[in-house]
Amino acid sequence: MTAYDPDNIFAKILAGDIPSVKLYEDEDTLAFMDVMPQAPGHLLVIPKAGSRNLLDADPAVLSKLMPVVQKLANAAQEAFDADGVFVAQFNEPAAGQTVFHLHFHVIPRHDGVPLKPHAGGMADVDMLKAQAEKIKAAL
Ligand code: AMP
Repeated sequence: MTAYDPDNIFAKILAGDIPSVKLYEDEDTLAFMDVMPQAPGHLLVIPKAGSRNLLDADPAVLSKLMPVVQKLANAAQEAFDADGVFVAQFNEPAAGQTVFHLHFHVIPRHDGVPLKPHAGGMADVDMLKAQAEKIKAAL
């Protein structure tokens, strides 16, 4: 297993070195909008503790993280009046992982609407901020 690299982009977001459109924060967890959304409302939930992915995460960290994933999934569903919510998490490049700090994708889904490609185009930040306000209002 490759060691955790504290220089990854989500560690920089946690350190405040690069901006993000934040949705929720507590002592252990941060949620923010994905900059390359696969559908409106695509967000990410990350632990503040560093792990490369699920495989090396401390179970105690996971036990605090998953209730926040659930909270954000419910808020995203309500905010976007979604028919369902896709929750995804990739481990290592072979599984599609591109950022090596544990994160859960939360994506509102609507019947018959396909997902856009993973890590496709960058979204307009003002649009992400408007979507974030809707999700925060549903929290
Ligand atoms: P993956 O590691 O494959 O699960 O995906 C990483 C996700 O992080 C992708 O959906 C990217 O769009 C997203 N992403 C990459 N950089 C940023 C960033 N600076 N802020 C928010 N989301 C990001």
